[in-house]
Amino acid sequence: MHSFYFHDEHNLFRKSLRDFLDKEIVPEIDHWEENGRVSKSAFKKMGEMGYYGLGMEEKYGGVNTDIFYTIILIEELNKCNSGGTAASLLAHSTLAMEHLQKNGNDFLKRNYLKPAINGDLIGCLAITEPNAGSDVASIKTSAVKKENHYILNGSKTFITNGVYSDFMVIATRTENTGFEGISMMLIDSKWEGVSATPLKKLGWHASDTGEISFDNVKVPIEHLIGQENKGFYYIMQRFELERLVLSTGALASAEYALDYGLKYLNEREAFGRPLSKFQELRHRVAQLSSEIESLKSFNYQICRSFNDGKNVTTQCAMTKLLSTELMDKVSYQVLQFLGGYGYMEEYEAARLFRDSRIGTIGGGTSEIMREIIAKQIIQ
Ligand SMILES: Cc1cc2nc3c(=O)[nH]c(=O)nc-3n(C[C@H](O)[C@H](O)[C@H](O)COP(=O)(O)OP(=O)(O)OC[C@H]3O[C@@H](n4cnc5c(N)ncnc54)[C@H](O)[C@@H]3O)c2cc1C
Repeated sequence: MHSFYFHDEHNLFRKSLRDFLDKEIVPEIDHWEENGRVSKSAFKKMGEMGYYGLGMEEKYGGVNTDIFYTIILIEELNKCNSGGTAASLLAHSTLAMEHLQKNGNDFLKRNYLKPAINGDLIGCLAITEPNAGSDVASIKTSAVKKENHYILNGSKTFITNGVYSDFMVIATRTENTGFEGISMMLIDSKWEGVSATPLKKLGWHASDTGEISFDNVKVPIEHLIGQENKGFYYIMQRFELERLVLSTGALASAEYALDYGLKYLNEREAFGRPLSKFQELRHRVAQLSSEIESLKSFNYQICRSFNDGKNVTTQCAMTKLLSTELMDKVSYQVLQFLGGYGYMEEYEAARLFRDSRIGTIGGGTSEIMREIIAKQIIQ
């Protein structure tokens, strides 16, 4: 099944990526989990290896690849068992850079996208606000036009890379007309009036999650991304990739978790035999393995359609819903396989369990995914 979507060059890419991650990323993860952030040098190394250039414009240092290279990057990063590390390294490219690549002007691409591809600058995507998460259209942050600039005021919350990023791709209100009055802008984190504070959270400990405040920030007009008042449409368009990143990541994590759990079941003995000999546990592994394999197929099929330019909004909601909920189930069961050891920090199951919980919330909650699907299939 793998070869249906991945050819020899993909497989070689996966192998060299895996070697890179095992050498440069995995040894640092415990440290990042403690520190609450991925080091800047990790972004630089990823950039130097060309991982941030995948699918990006060649003019700015990117390389024209199909989506399955990005899928490999997402899968292998999620098999390092640190949801926070994967989130931080991928929010930079698949969220922030993606908006710039699709709708940014040449000035922004030269000054921000190019260095982002090289790993010299780190980006974040800031849409959520303290009073507006699922309901994107109700954001309050506002940018008022004055001659050749805007004056920006407001706040954002729960932003991945929010504290340590160099630039922020933000959604702001440019008119008071609901979803039609939203625009995207690029904010340089060094500008006067921009400040951010880190948030403590249940999981994803290696990613910096920030609350950001804008206090009379002067935004030059060329920092508008795309057209004024078209931001809501851009956000909805980019959600397709964001949801595929989350579904693919959840399935890769689920596969990793189940492999880990199965290894433990083979090694641990009770009542004179390995745990993997007990039918109750064998059947649970069989069930979860079947669910992962079938969803992987569905997910790859959607990735292919997305790559071919088809409209996959509903399918992205479906796979995001099912994959993240499956990862929750798998991480719960794997922790259970380990008994008391599963609850101990020194075993991988604990991190898998707490990192999984955000899957059904970020990038649109499960309830919102069901809402999107229902609207399409119930007339
Ligand atoms: C660790 C982390 C990282 C994040 N990273 C980013 C980031 O990088 N950038 C960014 O912009 N945002 C980010 N987010 C925000 C995330 O996208 C939001 O938390 C999410 O969209 C939900 O919004 P909310 O938290 O305001 O919940 P709410 O919208 O207040 O929802 C609360 C509950 O009500 C339910 N609900 C809401 N509306 C409906 C409805 N119509 N029908 C049924 N149920 C409904 C929801 O499903 C949920 O269960 C991050 C969040 C976290 C926790």
